[in-house]
Amino acid sequence: MDKFRPDIYKKSIYDIDYEKLKKIGIKCLIFDLDNTIAPINMDMPDKKLLDFFAYLEDLGLKCILLSNASKKRVQPFKEHCNIDSSYKSRKPLKKKYRKILEMYSYKDIEIACIGDQLLTDIYGANRLGLTSILVNPISKKEKMGTKINRIIENRIFAYFEKRGIFKKGNYYE
Ligand SMILES: [Mg+2]
Repeated sequence: MDKFRPDIYKKSIYDIDYEKLKKIGIKCLIFDLDNTIAPINMDMPDKKLLDFFAYLEDLGLKCILLSNASKKRVQPFKEHCNIDSSYKSRKPLKKKYRKILEMYSYKDIEIACIGDQLLTDIYGANRLGLTSILVNPISKKEKMGTKINRIIENRIFAYFEKRGIFKKGNYYE
């Protein structure tokens, strides 16, 4: 169950202290797309998101979009935010994470993964020993597969809450 526990838990991508991450040696950020950086019905990044990625670039943090969605879905975000991306990533499988580790030659301790799902984003990151950061889903609107994952996820949240490990809405870093 430990593999489902995020290292950091924040309300949204805008509440994470990226300067602090940089200070502890993080060089690369892997972002989930749907409901982490954008709601599922948003096809184009908005100004706030563009400014956000520009800020991270200025900080010197490499950003990569790692999504289980299609190329068509990921492409506009990759282009406009000017970041690298991987689509149909099949998180939480290890393959794409390993590919990133090889391609960019970052060490596991230099990568933080940010996402809204325990079952894919957090479990995927923890399996590889990467820093895992959970954020709340932006919207309640979700794809069918995600809805099923949420049922299991709620049980995991209940498990952690029962043991006083962490609970929804109690943010930490
Ligand atoms: Mg997501």
